Amino acid sequence: MNSIVANLMQVRARIELAALAAKREPEEIELLAVSKTFPASAVEEAMHAGQSAFGENYVQEAVEKIEKLAKLRPWLTWHFIGPLQSNKTREVAQHFDWVHSVDRLKIAERLSTQRGEFPDLPPLMVCAQVNVSDEDSKSGVSLSEVEGLCNAITALPNLVLRGLMAIPEPSSDPAQQRKAFAAVRDCFLKIQTAHAVELGYQFFDTLSMGMSDDLEAAIAEGSSIVRVGTAIFGKRDKISK
Ligand SMILES: *Cc1c(COP(=O)(O)O)cnc(C)c1O
Repeated sequence: MNSIVANLMQVRARIELAALAAKREPEEIELLAVSKTFPASAVEEAMHAGQSAFGENYVQEAVEKIEKLAKLRPWLTWHFIGPLQSNKTREVAQHFDWVHSVDRLKIAERLSTQRGEFPDLPPLMVCAQVNVSDEDSKSGVSLSEVEGLCNAITALPNLVLRGLMAIPEPSSDPAQQRKAFAAVRDCFLKIQTAHAVELGYQFFDTLSMGMSDDLEAAIAEGSSIVRVGTAIFGKRDKISK
């Protein structure tokens, strides 16, 4: 069995190679370690190997982990990346640094209001989630609607719009993977260009895309945050689906 430390080194090497192949600087790509379903001790182990950004999908599980690791909080960045229901936004607003999965205005409004109840916290960093494969079952707004959602988010006081997030339909064909990521990148660049001088868009710099099985394709198409779980922590039990 591989250790978390060895896995992390391997994933970092994959990121570096993919960046070089795409003629990009490896430092442009942040590794988000997706620790959902794994215990606080696994996060600690990764942290000792130099990993500081962690992603979680399930609010209850995440908050327990964050509280367990409260002493390490100053060194960690917690990203919420899962589907978010409105009755769970308060806990996310209180405990997280980032939310990648904002897919409707109501959720953004609640996050902004509730973040405001913690004046000691900086604004919450958010990405709008795009449904690039247009599957009915997946969360995210369509490519045609995402600019409208972004404009609305920039008007909210306690959120900072950082970019777009996408989870394309899984495919084992690298060309297919790249096609989906390229569509998200094109949409991202279009929004970035159209709003280049507008207040609220000055930090729009993030493309959150790519996971264990398709991070190379995502980096080739401009990803700036890859969200990697399995390749770091191993296979998850069934509850994570
Ligand atoms: C679970 C999850 C990941 C990590 O997936 P792996 O295939 O285990 O790397 C990334 N992003 C989101 C949104 C997830 O839910």
